[in-house]
Amino acid sequence: MTTITNHLPTAELQALDAAHHMHPFTANGGLAQKGARIITRAKGVTLTDSEGHEILDAMAGLWCVNIGYGRDELAEVAARQMRELPYYNTFFQTTHVPVIALAAKIAELAPDNLNNVFFAGSGSEANDTNIRMVRHYWAMKGKPTKSVIISRKNAYHGSSVGSGSLGGMSAMHAQGGLPIPDIHHINQPNWWAEGGNTDPEDFGLQRAQELEKAILELGEDRVAAFIAEPVQGAGGVIVPPASYWPEIQRICDKYEILLIADEVICGFGRTGNWFGSETMGIRPDIMTIAKGLSSGYAPIGGSIVSDEVAAVIAQDEFNHGYTYSGHPVAAAVALENLRILEEENVLDHVRNVAAPYLKEKWEALTAHPLVGEAKIVGMMGSIALTPNKATRAAFEAEAGTVGFICRERCFANNLVMRHVGDRMIISPPLVITPEEIDTLIARATKSLDECYAELQ
Ligand code: PLP
Repeated sequence: MTTITNHLPTAELQALDAAHHMHPFTANGGLAQKGARIITRAKGVTLTDSEGHEILDAMAGLWCVNIGYGRDELAEVAARQMRELPYYNTFFQTTHVPVIALAAKIAELAPDNLNNVFFAGSGSEANDTNIRMVRHYWAMKGKPTKSVIISRKNAYHGSSVGSGSLGGMSAMHAQGGLPIPDIHHINQPNWWAEGGNTDPEDFGLQRAQELEKAILELGEDRVAAFIAEPVQGAGGVIVPPASYWPEIQRICDKYEILLIADEVICGFGRTGNWFGSETMGIRPDIMTIAKGLSSGYAPIGGSIVSDEVAAVIAQDEFNHGYTYSGHPVAAAVALENLRILEEENVLDHVRNVAAPYLKEKWEALTAHPLVGEAKIVGMMGSIALTPNKATRAAFEAEAGTVGFICRERCFANNLVMRHVGDRMIISPPLVITPEEIDTLIARATKSLDECYAELQ
């Protein structure tokens, strides 16, 4: 058999990839005609592909490479840990030093009473843990009927059966029999697309009050929890009006509904604080984490659980866990990632340098004829493409057509910017410099110009 390495021609690698590799969230049939782009290496904010293109990654992979690519320290820690203890599990009253250290560090960084971590291999697995944990929690408290979890339409919480059900993506629900029972979805606070003529703050309140309506309709004794991202990421970087979160918090408190903040994207500096919950001023009972926890260098996720919930769960055996819960190599890598974030003052860089500069440049994109609104919190931003800024109209073409054209133009201009429908989104590595932000904006503007020209 041929040895498959970087040195094979791109077309040959693409053909092998199309023949044997089933890609996530991809129409795999199309790969035979147009091969996948092959990324061969990366450093800082820059990817290199098999044709030698240098591409600015304004998505930090999948919102995860917070410290940037190519940090040798993480590779060294992983190699050391693999030599010392490559694997051991955390089931049946066993543990190891990397997981002890990581759990203690996360407890130190997380707000208030969020001092307990249940580890998983990914964000999806962590949200599956949350489904089981909140239902078990209420059963332990003598309220087994409290099993419904309320989420939001257009939310993304993962791809497993449980987390895909928590999510509110209709295209996902259409495949494979989702959602599972006892998951209920309310509307999202997306004023641009759904706010009509309502004032944005009134709209935020209305959308939050849908939670109260749902609780009253379903019955207070049936609802276990509400889950949401502090700032919706994969839904299109939807920043809620300021009125939204205080009202959600009030409702969760009033009806004793557990609040789960999905921090898989927002966590570990993305919004300028360690957690998006701090930026949005909310007090969750559970936070889902993954991605930025290891900057994507190793697969790891988890649930950070309040002392009150953890104390109840601790009263019984929780019949749940993953082979890779607290994997020692992933834990050691995550710990090193947190050390870098902390010791190199990456959050200060976000707050004082990168985020203010990016905000100024990003918001200036609204001068472009295609761009209706620009939203940004910390280092996650979106722009809405529209044929009519005044009416916030959608394009006549099927939703996502123009966004796709723009994304393809970005690719051609060596910029990774994603589209969600006709919103373009960014989430660059947190360590991006002002000069690199200039390059990002220049390439985005060129791509928008080309997209605009193509539509004329
Ligand atoms: N939750 C949120 C908010 C996410 O954005 C994602 C992934 O994009 C997940 C959960 C699922 O994480 P994973 O892909 O690690 O399973």
